[in-house]
Amino acid sequence: MTTHVFSSIPVAVLLAGAILLASASAALAQPKDAEPATRRMHAEVLRALPFGDRADFDDAQRGFIAPLPDDITSADGQRTIWSVKRYAFVTGNAPATVNPSLWRQAQLNTINGLFKVVDRIYQIRGLDDSNMTIVESNTGLIVIDTLSAAESAKAAMDLYYQNRPRKPVVAVIYTHPHADHFGGVKGVVGEDAVRAGQVKIFAPDRFMDHAAADTVMAGTAKFRRSLYQFGPALPPGERGQVDAGHGKNIPRGGTFTLIAPTDLIRERYEARTIDGIPIEFHLVPDSEAPAEMTLYFPQFRVLNMAEDTNHTLHNLYALRGTEVRDARLWSRYINESLERYGDRTDVLIAQHQWPTWGADKIAAFLKKQRDMYKFIHDQSVRLINRAYTPTDIADTLKMPASLANDWSTRGYYGTLSHNAKAVYQKYLGWYDANPANLSPLPPIEYARKTVEYMGGAAAAIARAREDFKAGHYRWVASVMNQVVFADPANRQARELGADALEQLGYQAEAATWRNAYLMGAMELRHGMTKLPPAGALSFDVIKSLPIEMIFDLWAVRLNPEKAEGKAMVLNWTFTDVGEQFTLTLENSALTNLPGKLAATADAGFTLTRATLDSILVRQTTFANAIKAGDIRVEGEPGKLGELVAMLDDIPTDFPIVEPAQARP
Ligand SMILES: [Zn+2]
Repeated sequence: MTTHVFSSIPVAVLLAGAILLASASAALAQPKDAEPATRRMHAEVLRALPFGDRADFDDAQRGFIAPLPDDITSADGQRTIWSVKRYAFVTGNAPATVNPSLWRQAQLNTINGLFKVVDRIYQIRGLDDSNMTIVESNTGLIVIDTLSAAESAKAAMDLYYQNRPRKPVVAVIYTHPHADHFGGVKGVVGEDAVRAGQVKIFAPDRFMDHAAADTVMAGTAKFRRSLYQFGPALPPGERGQVDAGHGKNIPRGGTFTLIAPTDLIRERYEARTIDGIPIEFHLVPDSEAPAEMTLYFPQFRVLNMAEDTNHTLHNLYALRGTEVRDARLWSRYINESLERYGDRTDVLIAQHQWPTWGADKIAAFLKKQRDMYKFIHDQSVRLINRAYTPTDIADTLKMPASLANDWSTRGYYGTLSHNAKAVYQKYLGWYDANPANLSPLPPIEYARKTVEYMGGAAAAIARAREDFKAGHYRWVASVMNQVVFADPANRQARELGADALEQLGYQAEAATWRNAYLMGAMELRHGMTKLPPAGALSFDVIKSLPIEMIFDLWAVRLNPEKAEGKAMVLNWTFTDVGEQFTLTLENSALTNLPGKLAATADAGFTLTRATLDSILVRQTTFANAIKAGDIRVEGEPGKLGELVAMLDDIPTDFPIVEPAQARP
């Protein structure tokens, strides 16, 4: 029996994050300059927005102590996983190829280093897209969020220790289960110290349900799509990646770690004293993350809003692919924070970007953050009830001037457009109720017919060139997408489509849209970004997955043709964790029933969870574990091999801006 089929669970690529860059080749054609329509649009942005207001720059620089190291390398010294100096170009006036509003945000997000917030509270910003916050408690340090890679988290701690007294970490707090807030934990503390009770880890209720489990099921797709959202494969530059919206970028190829929390915050409001520091936790589930909490420090008059407030509109739906978030709840939580802490807060910090100082400014900031989510929610629903479709709503809604003219509500990460569509999705799902859209032809067939009706590719391209000159980039991108899907070898269509996407990228105020457009342009011109094959899974992730999730990850790889007409029942007993499962294949569906063994099974396997984990991270194989006596088999051992042969390998990449040539 081969082992590789057991180890290609998608989380490997999602979390390992190593990327081979198509863009690394110098032989590739350079991106083009901004077109006149793009320049005109940027001039309008410069006129419309309050660029004279430089308060954010003061706040972002306030309390600066020391800069970050230039480069962070991987633990084995083989790769640079993070480099702030690659963004040294983000200075001065906006180039014609970057929306001036985004350029301003990119400058703010480039301000990096160790900062003092107030006495005893420090932040490291710019080492990831997220922040690490350090509280000097009575005998040691409380570290809030640990970035996404152990290497960057360690660099953050080193920077802190170079500038502050070396005291031990006594507690870690995860504000929520997104990878950029816990993945670096082993760069901060060792698992042994946590197990020995020397370090406590606090997290919101249901943290572990979401830390790894939520990302693995569609992990490959999310990873591939996240390249479009964050742009880590785009070269940083005036014609490339400049920002990620609420931070610079995500690190590449670092070590992703996870230590389970020791203490969960379960009450809606819960006061704890950690190493002499009183903290009031506020649970805000199903807002920015399914499990999340904010923290108030009464002694310091500091409010930490985790990721529920940002100096940008956040995502109700992230372009990498997420379940939609609840704008109504999100807004309510911000209102609760304002009500409960507003008049006793001098500094508001968060786990991305810079703080806000002063009670009046904080109240104004919280109100605007509260109202932008409520506005998007309410106005989208209002239009939904007037029969608007998602695209109609996205193109109709405009923020009120009081919000639109405030920098903190501009859409650098989320946008009004795709967030409004998320509200539609939350209430009504994918279908707009128009039966013409109920079962349209699939993309390739649709494209071929469309191009045929347009009079052929050459005619469509000729007309699209005129529209490109007129600055109608959205339309040109859309039509060229049809021509490319009808014939991916049509070089002219690919080039013109790329040109249109590129101008849209240059025009975009949202870093996420810019990254998506420029990735699309790059892949139309040069083909797909190459990804390395899936590596071994992170042991930390494997260990955190419930066994039934592992069986379900096999289930989503079941090839229905190979499984056609097959049936089997396998019993599984995990002795160390006391769990039993019946795994049933029938009707080309693989189901598992926890807490039960079938009375009659084709085979039964008795092993430890630890042995299963070792197989999943490729330290051993099923065959070797059976030989070594680590797995006891009853019945027909060959049945497992039969099942494995029906599981597809999952490719780590797939085309997005062109049709799949050999889609299975
Ligand atoms: Zn985050």
